[in-house]
Amino acid sequence: MKTFQYLTVVSLLLLFTACGADRTTEESAYTAFVGGTVIDGSGAAPISDGVVLMHGGRIVAVGSRDQVTLPENTKIRDVTGKTVIPGLINTHGHVGDVKGVEGGHYSAENAAHDLERYAQYGITTVVSLGGDRKEAVPMRFVNDTTANQRARLYIAGEVINGNTPEEAVAVVDSNHRMGVDFMKIRVDDNLGTSKKMPAEIYQAVIDRSHELGYQLAVHTYYLDDAKKLLQSGADLVAHSIRDQQVDDTLIDLMKARNACYCPTLTREVSTYVYEDTAAFFDDPFFLRVYSREEIQPLLDPERQQQVRNSISAQTYKRQLPVAMANMKILSDRGVPIIMGTDSGMPARFIGYFEHMEMQLMAEAGMTPMEIIQSATGNAIPCMKLKDIGLLKPGYWADLVVLDGNPLDDIRNLQQIAEVWIGGAQVVQ
Ligand SMILES: [Zn+2]
Repeated sequence: MKTFQYLTVVSLLLLFTACGADRTTEESAYTAFVGGTVIDGSGAAPISDGVVLMHGGRIVAVGSRDQVTLPENTKIRDVTGKTVIPGLINTHGHVGDVKGVEGGHYSAENAAHDLERYAQYGITTVVSLGGDRKEAVPMRFVNDTTANQRARLYIAGEVINGNTPEEAVAVVDSNHRMGVDFMKIRVDDNLGTSKKMPAEIYQAVIDRSHELGYQLAVHTYYLDDAKKLLQSGADLVAHSIRDQQVDDTLIDLMKARNACYCPTLTREVSTYVYEDTAAFFDDPFFLRVYSREEIQPLLDPERQQQVRNSISAQTYKRQLPVAMANMKILSDRGVPIIMGTDSGMPARFIGYFEHMEMQLMAEAGMTPMEIIQSATGNAIPCMKLKDIGLLKPGYWADLVVLDGNPLDDIRNLQQIAEVWIGGAQVVQ
């Protein structure tokens, strides 16, 4: 017995010593990415032969090799020939609800799994705009601490609705009590098939949200609704305007409100692309995370026929070019564009769709630098997110190391060599 106790004490002591030693090395450790091209997310010119120095999960210095002095004990990661960018931010996603390609499976486990998938694709932060339940609330705490293996999460709680202003305001209040980061409403008639939220209700929701200090994101489709919502105080247009070309009145309203625009072009793609076998099902970048088993239901000929026959799917397909043109007009006129996909809904593949989104943005005419900004630095003022989105001293060390340079070709964002969140490397 005595021997046992002695051994236990000794091993515990050894364990504590080992942990202590580990922690000390960990705390004193600096890591530097050296020799790569650094794109900081602000839109500034890239730094060639750059250095990103991190410590304690945060970035402590960024610059060219001769500008940054490395502390003595710095671990060097040679990234010559590679590109370092901030971790990407999806400003309109969803988590926790989908299993395979079907919704209605909300759980904490699913939400964690979704956040891991985002991280695998270099999406290090996700703003989940609705459908978030209480299980997601504790996961938000990764925003205030050093995260690992999972994307950081912001949530909007329940999408606000109600038959009267009072009912809708009660949902705002219950979201507030649960603990959310944003409020979200839908003002849409789903191509004439449902009732649109009346102005007196959304006005009450917007006012109450602002009173409580929240930004209000709106799901819209029609130009006319977007204008009315902005006039009523909406902060964030969370989908493309798709019925017609945007005009000066909308642009003036967006600028006056400092409102940002989240195109979610891949949301449109997801409505019609399964009318046939989607070409991306063979893409190795898709298959590195998703299995053929998962996509099986989408290969069902009957299901494909339904999509071909669906008026709504075919309408969204027809209107996608309108959405792309509107995004380009708004971007050119100086309205901040933020990358978002509406992924995490059934058959909108988390992580992969963000990269598809950025390719569509390029096809619509945005430059690679503009696209990178939309997925990094732009999200910060737009969504009032803290300490992420830029490679900047004091910010979280959320970054992606790429084998190619995305300024040459946006598809090089898929050449993911390493993903880091809060200074911890995500296992690929
Ligand atoms: Zn959504």
